[in-house]
Amino acid sequence: MPSPAKTTTRPENRPSLKVRPIYCMFCGTKVAEEGEPYYDHLRQNKACESAWRTWRENLLSDHPGGD
Ligand SMILES: [Zn+2]
Repeated sequence: MPSPAKTTTRPENRPSLKVRPIYCMFCGTKVAEEGEPYYDHLRQNKACESAWRTWRENLLSDHPGGD
């Protein structure tokens, strides 16, 4: 029995954000909305992406298993 194929084109393992980042929590830039637009912002801003990775790792270490 093959395991379920994970064919997502975005293999990011991202936690659900508990805050609504209408403004980027790292640089304060206004973001259109939470979710994809916010992740787009992170991808386009290396400083924010780096900060977000650190934030996410802290989050995951607080909650093993994620989500
Ligand atoms: Zn930012």
